[in-house]
Amino acid sequence: MKYQKPKGTADILPQEAQLWDEVEAKSREVFRRYRYGEIRVPLFESYDLYARSSGDTSDIVTKEMYDFNDKGGRHMALRPEGTAGVVRAYVENKLYGPEFPKPYRVYYMGPMFRYERPQSGRQREFHQIGVEAFGSDSPLLDAETIQLGVDLLHSVGVHDLRLAINTLGDPETRQAYHQALVDYFTPHKAELSEDSQIRLAKNPLRILDSKDPQDKPLVADAPSILDYLTPAAQAHFSVVKESLDKLGIAYVVDPTMVRGLDYYNHTIFEIMTTSPAFGNKELTVLAGGRYDGLVEQVGGPALPGVGFGLGTERLMLLVQHNRPAEEAAPLNVYIASLSEPAGAEALVLAHAIREAGYTVDMDFLNRKAKSQFKTANRENAQLVITLGEDELAHSAASIKQMATGQQIQVPFAEVTTEFHKIYQQLVEEGK
Ligand code: ATP
Ligand code: MG
Repeated sequence: MKYQKPKGTADILPQEAQLWDEVEAKSREVFRRYRYGEIRVPLFESYDLYARSSGDTSDIVTKEMYDFNDKGGRHMALRPEGTAGVVRAYVENKLYGPEFPKPYRVYYMGPMFRYERPQSGRQREFHQIGVEAFGSDSPLLDAETIQLGVDLLHSVGVHDLRLAINTLGDPETRQAYHQALVDYFTPHKAELSEDSQIRLAKNPLRILDSKDPQDKPLVADAPSILDYLTPAAQAHFSVVKESLDKLGIAYVVDPTMVRGLDYYNHTIFEIMTTSPAFGNKELTVLAGGRYDGLVEQVGGPALPGVGFGLGTERLMLLVQHNRPAEEAAPLNVYIASLSEPAGAEALVLAHAIREAGYTVDMDFLNRKAKSQFKTANRENAQLVITLGEDELAHSAASIKQMATGQQIQVPFAEVTTEFHKIYQQLVEEGK
């Protein structure tokens, strides 16, 4: 084959896209109830925006960014995640102004790009559905955001969830913990992976997120951030936990969880699920947290934010696995034409029927009558219109109900009215 899709990308074909549509529609409905509005931001921005917000020791910045110089010599990148662009838009459009609601809540859906090693559940172009809420530092909003994520997953029939939460505290917490990690890892520096030796110098917290098996034993015994929380950070986290308890959302506190991006502080969370759809491995479908310094870092006022991103492909695998393949939607009408002039008439009739709101298909391959009726059956047509010499001579269509075999002749001008009658009757009969 001459052309193949780029490594790590996927074609989403119509059969599958229908389910994507459904999942997106259900998500939109949940977002509406939580008063989130959709935001659509560019798929590429300046490299610097992503680099600065994700942090220059994150996997995204060190290995995964699809960056390029455009013809004007600007260093750009395809978006690796959704938050940075949304924060940029929030600042640039001054959405923190008094005329806008607080918290200011937005959601997005769309493709993200990361240069990763493709494997099951991991692509180079993948999709996320995500939310951001700006302008409130209340731990209640953290809890609401987690509840939103759970509701979203429930709304598409995904129930077997494990929620892990942790806190990264405030800047003071981070500083104390940073020192504790340096003190702990430095004597073991030689045992760390090459990447983590660099992380130790630049950002020791990142070591906890290492996927290198060489680092695992050391990471397992590392000091816990929970022992370094300031009273304020402690209080924030307590309210989050109490709120989750009140909401009846089960969770585990995982003090080794740090998340892949540098901008998080206070509450971070991941929702995981184990499913035969993932080969019974546990995978994270949704992840997020609070990022109180990010808006300021991107050049806006010091306003807090909290959000999450959900991996749409992973969600689709779960949704597909959880339900049997649906039958294709039936075709309302198939028009079989038995001659060339009949074909031209069929085109006109098809348009009128579509205008009236019904789905229509007809023959475009000069098929014999028998083969056209076969096609109608395969498409699961409810009605078949036949246009032959006799019908053309009388400017009338023969309409056959496939379920009953009942057949009538109706003048062209009355076809759509007749359809309304037939479908009304089908509805009344509960079909
Ligand atoms: P990991 O540690 O597995 O690399 P991450 O921290 O990079 O995850 P996030 O940036 O938090 O992931 O992205 C949120 C969600 O997006 C993930 O939980 C996952 O469901 C999905 N996701 C991330 N990267 C990919 C990818 N390359 N392909 C498909 N889905 C992805
Ligand atoms: Mg990653």
